[in-house]
Amino acid sequence: MCGIVGYIGKKQASPILLGGLERLEYRGYDSAGLAVKKDGAETVIVKAKGRLRALAEKTDDGASVKGCCGIGHTRWATHGEPSETNAHPHCSDDKRVIAVHNGIIENYKPLKEKLEKAGYSFYSQTDSEVAVKLLDYYLKKEESPLCALARFMLRVRGSYALAVLFSDEPDKIFVARKDSPLLLGRGENESYLASDIPAILPYTHSVYYMENLEMATLSKSGITFYNIDKEEIHKTPVKITFSAQLAEKNGFEHFMMKEIHEQPQAVEDTLNESIKNGVICLPESLSTARIQALKTVYIVGCGSAYHVGVCAQYVIEDLAKISVRVELASEFRYRAPSLDTNALVIVISQSGETADSLGALRLAKQAGAKTLAIVNVVGSSIAREADEVMYTRAGPEIAVATTKAYSTQLIVCYLLAIAFGKAREQIEKTDCERLLAELFELPKKMHRILEDKERLQWFASKYANANALFVIGRGLDYACALEGGLKTKEISYIHAEAYPAGELKHGTISLIEDGTLVVGVLTQERLFEKTVSNMAEVKSRGAELFAVTTYGNYETESLADFTFYIPRTDEHFAVSLAVIPLQLTAYYISVARGVDVDKPRNLAKSVTVE
Ligand code: GLU
Repeated sequence: MCGIVGYIGKKQASPILLGGLERLEYRGYDSAGLAVKKDGAETVIVKAKGRLRALAEKTDDGASVKGCCGIGHTRWATHGEPSETNAHPHCSDDKRVIAVHNGIIENYKPLKEKLEKAGYSFYSQTDSEVAVKLLDYYLKKEESPLCALARFMLRVRGSYALAVLFSDEPDKIFVARKDSPLLLGRGENESYLASDIPAILPYTHSVYYMENLEMATLSKSGITFYNIDKEEIHKTPVKITFSAQLAEKNGFEHFMMKEIHEQPQAVEDTLNESIKNGVICLPESLSTARIQALKTVYIVGCGSAYHVGVCAQYVIEDLAKISVRVELASEFRYRAPSLDTNALVIVISQSGETADSLGALRLAKQAGAKTLAIVNVVGSSIAREADEVMYTRAGPEIAVATTKAYSTQLIVCYLLAIAFGKAREQIEKTDCERLLAELFELPKKMHRILEDKERLQWFASKYANANALFVIGRGLDYACALEGGLKTKEISYIHAEAYPAGELKHGTISLIEDGTLVVGVLTQERLFEKTVSNMAEVKSRGAELFAVTTYGNYETESLADFTFYIPRTDEHFAVSLAVIPLQLTAYYISVARGVDVDKPRNLAKSVTVE
């Protein structure tokens, strides 16, 4: 959510800022802006509503805004409508303080009132302008920029990644962080800052992650880090192993399609990450004794990560016979769940920065539960704060709608289910080996599905004008339907509802009319006939049927208008294959409707606000 980029060095800043912001576009935004400082001249601020293209046009791709030090921002509005005035950077009246901000200043109202009493006026509706003017207020009390920043951090509640240009110290960029991602990097005689790695990956592969309540100053010659007491601290850089190319489209029309195709590799990499010499390597503290003592496993996530949890619930309960509860992070964090040391709370997040999931993690820790994070971004907040972490190896995921991160999160959950099953003596060693061997077959089977994608394109194009669709299934097929429904909503803007097949007739079936598309997922042998019956029920009320089932289940042919077959696998893992035709269908419908597939409206990739 929102992107921040900053540069100070010998090169022209504007093109670097625009390029960096472009690589952060996936995070979602509604306006953009930059501030560039020219030696000896006033800092220039340019902002534009809408796409980054508008800002690039206004600045002649950066050529018209000269200077070697600057900050840039893509805004995802929280306080005040998306508009040029509300766009960042924000500044004090005399431009002594200019800043970009990601996050929310929760106590901005009383702070604004205090500043108004002190004579300040406000041109925007944002909480960020209040932040800038509060900094100015502290600065005017004859403090240094660093003192002003530290005082600001003690005074505000909420979240921020802040990059500030103080005219008093023209050769530096100041940054501060709490609960919003921020990382810094060094090149030769230059320093960079960004919300995420892709922004600065073309320039450096070694980054410093800012921790909560830390500050830093960036200059041509180096970066200095400070704690909130303004004492200098030492930080070690982290090496980034993936290349800038991974964050490019590589010939695909959209990142989403590229990422759908990267799933087999991402799954294989994730398996190899956690399986060494045929053995699942769990984090150290998840010992056999601890797993045997587990009473309840909570799985917490938002959006697709929550859907992974629903799938994991079925698999862990079945293989390991532990009671599992799946929780939406935004709800869990404000409940009073009865957690104790025999509970394990698993938090799933691609970015590792999801605000609600982070809140849930902190709640779980406070309550004394053991926590385990399943995260894609190394060094992210959730990865750092959880007791243990298992990484997915999806590589950078740029499209807002997740595909490969979802698929790799499933893999980690399967591994946990198998390892827990073994530790609790619910499955034999041979079962364990068979299941692992089956997991390693998934990438090949995924490839087979991808080879068949044109059939889905043809089918999807017929439904580009649909008003609504339903995705139904039972058991694990329902878990898969949840993700299929969300994919469709996110990128095609068609109202799509996922339903447990058996639940339809308790209300929702009244929405079925002539031509309503109902997608049935049927991979679970035991439940196959039951879902077929539910599909027949909607068919006789006018629905058109699309069935996703495994090769060999040819009974659906006579019922469904269109059937897509996936290869057979162990039924516990069927979601990993069945979800791909649903992802592809959503993608093709989105393209046919002319939607901005990678950056659908109103959505942000990493949801760093509540
Ligand atoms: N809360 C700030 C605003 O609405 C910053 C939002 C963001 O993170 O982009 O302007």
